[in-house]
Amino acid sequence: MTLARYLVIAIAVTTGALALATPSSPQALKPSSPASVWYKGQLHTHTLNSDGDSTPDDVVRWYREHGHNFVVITDHNYLTSVDGLNALHGADDKFLVIKGEEVTDRFGDKPIHVNGLDPATLIKPPGGNSVVSMVQNMIDAITAARGVPSINHPNYGWAISADDLTQLQRTRLFEVFNGHPLVNNVGGGGVPGLEETWDRILSSGKLLYGIAVDDAHYFKRPEDTTVPRPGFGWVHVRAQRLEARAIVEALERGDFYSSTGVELQSIDASSKALTIAVKVDRLSKYRIQFIGRQGSVLSEMTATPATYTFKGDEGYVRAKVIESNGKVAWIQPVPVGSSAPK
Ligand SMILES: [Zn+2]
Ligand SMILES: [Zn+2]
Repeated sequence: MTLARYLVIAIAVTTGALALATPSSPQALKPSSPASVWYKGQLHTHTLNSDGDSTPDDVVRWYREHGHNFVVITDHNYLTSVDGLNALHGADDKFLVIKGEEVTDRFGDKPIHVNGLDPATLIKPPGGNSVVSMVQNMIDAITAARGVPSINHPNYGWAISADDLTQLQRTRLFEVFNGHPLVNNVGGGGVPGLEETWDRILSSGKLLYGIAVDDAHYFKRPEDTTVPRPGFGWVHVRAQRLEARAIVEALERGDFYSSTGVELQSIDASSKALTIAVKVDRLSKYRIQFIGRQGSVLSEMTATPATYTFKGDEGYVRAKVIESNGKVAWIQPVPVGSSAPK
């Protein structure tokens, strides 16, 4: 476990902040409280400023009206201004628009897309002489612009392999789930799905966190299953306040979980154990898996809360909650022992 992450957990334990509070709920913690709150947000979406079908105003409105606390606008090679959007839709501790850009290029026939979350300036695609160098150059250009990089849909166009991902430096986030219908999340034809890819990377010693996103482009064709629409994947981020830097910094230290519809009551990670409590829908049933090296299921439980006690040599332990209709939550890996990914 990184020191920063351990401290976050330690602080959360001492402040008793592990129960999740929804900012808009009556039990909401006040913004001035030192305790952390969970904020639901979208990290990847498009507007008419690139190849979306709706204005930034319509896109932001959709997320605000569908229970999100924040949305990052990530148009291709375009940095949409968010000041006017926040003046219209922003609300203290309830809703925030964060600026972003999908830095977009091709290497040969391979689409290479890396999101910059909250960069200070527009980032020009920096080029590169291989897939790995192009992705790395994008990561470094985003970081130089004070943005947080996130590697998009590695299996789209079968562009970025698990081996490529293990070679990348200075980055923490990648999309383990993308709601676009053509991104090959589950793999095929001998190419691993993104969850298997994630375990390969973690097992190789590299610490990456998995995000879930919509990558929505079409807000005006809700019945059309062939196009990327909103409402398929998002994150719940634990942060001190609803502010752009607090959100992206929490993402970089893995203080979040990703979801396609499962909501959690709490995540409690210590140096000894990981405990997950699910916010149960009474019509559904759940499986809670604790997963280690190479994707091996260390333990599976059906009752919530579920605890896995570390043996000490796992390397890492991550959790996954599978709801009986296929909805999923992915909890970020907790490094365990001397061979932990870094
Ligand atoms: Zn893309
Ligand atoms: Zn996109």
